[in-house]
Amino acid sequence: MIDIKNYDNDNIFSKILNKTIPSKKIYEDEKVLAFEDINPQAPIHVLVIPKEKFCSLNDFCLNASNETISEFIRSIEKIAKILKLSNGYRIISNIGKEGGQEVPHLHFHILGGKQLGKIID
Ligand code: AMP
Repeated sequence: MIDIKNYDNDNIFSKILNKTIPSKKIYEDEKVLAFEDINPQAPIHVLVIPKEKFCSLNDFCLNASNETISEFIRSIEKIAKILKLSNGYRIISNIGKEGGQEVPHLHFHILGGKQLGKIID
């Protein structure tokens, strides 16, 4: 089910948000946190998460306010600028089991820092 409503408060990004476990912070504001992925798949691999609890992008689309969605999307440009990704970058958001989502808190992967290949092997 991709439209699950039961947010798991024990997920690892929830623990990063409440600072139970550390992260390498790139950007933070009232609503958004961005930090380095622990297992980078490109020279730059950063995860962007909303501070509000959403299980996935699907949950976010169904249940977030327009203001929250707008601010979250706009934060991507700010973070890309901080990361100096002026030559381009890729955004990925895995959703649910078949989408390959491992952590059930909405996150966008920002990947860049080299010429990226095809999106799917
Ligand atoms: P996904 O498969 O889209 O749910 O991606 C989860 C991502 O979280 C993976 O790229 C992991 O490398 C990353 N990850 C897992 N634990 C941590 C952590 N403690 N700090 C930073 N990134 C993490």
